[in-house]
Amino acid sequence: MKIRTQDIPEELGLDLTLTERDEWLMETIKLHLSGCSPSSVTGQIHLDVLEDNVNVTGHLHFPFVSQCASCGEPVNLAEDVPINVLLVPLYNSRQERDKHEDEEIELTRDDLDFSFYDKGVIDMSAVVNDEIALHLPYNVYCRPDCKGICPTCLKNRNTEACECQSIELVTSPWAKLKEIKLPAEKGRRGSKKPQLS
Ligand SMILES: [Zn+2]
Ligand SMILES: [Zn+2]
Repeated sequence: MKIRTQDIPEELGLDLTLTERDEWLMETIKLHLSGCSPSSVTGQIHLDVLEDNVNVTGHLHFPFVSQCASCGEPVNLAEDVPINVLLVPLYNSRQERDKHEDEEIELTRDDLDFSFYDKGVIDMSAVVNDEIALHLPYNVYCRPDCKGICPTCLKNRNTEACECQSIELVTSPWAKLKEIKLPAEKGRRGSKKPQLS
């Protein structure tokens, strides 16, 4: 979704009410959910013009099913993604940038989340994409103390106890490495470097 900065009312700003019916939004969210669609999406986004910059604030909310990173069991999540980014214009030429240099707005600590817009057009898919990437948890767990899947017998250790721990240690593939003796190094030193003529 593209928004031209000239279409944002200066005093009031622009309000977007978003739902799962906004295709561009669903496509963007799906990129972060391994292609799965959330069952519903609600979102409020407000755009405010501040001189040359555009402040984008709001939030997105969407429930979805993920997988525990440790045991693979499905985990129900309801993400609330805050949207808070200051968009500054991307100047193509040095002259254009110099022309605007004296108008620069000083960035405060709260504005550290900033990105760019190009040629007076805001790509909302890119803004939302960045904010989801920042706030969506990278690894999800079904519970804080998930014991995971046993790599030997493939039992879910949360629901079934297994005795594989001791066997794993004895048959470690690295155990054999300790028995290997390296031959003494011979004839490596003193080898001649090619002479430059
Ligand atoms: Zn788990
Ligand atoms: Zn096991």
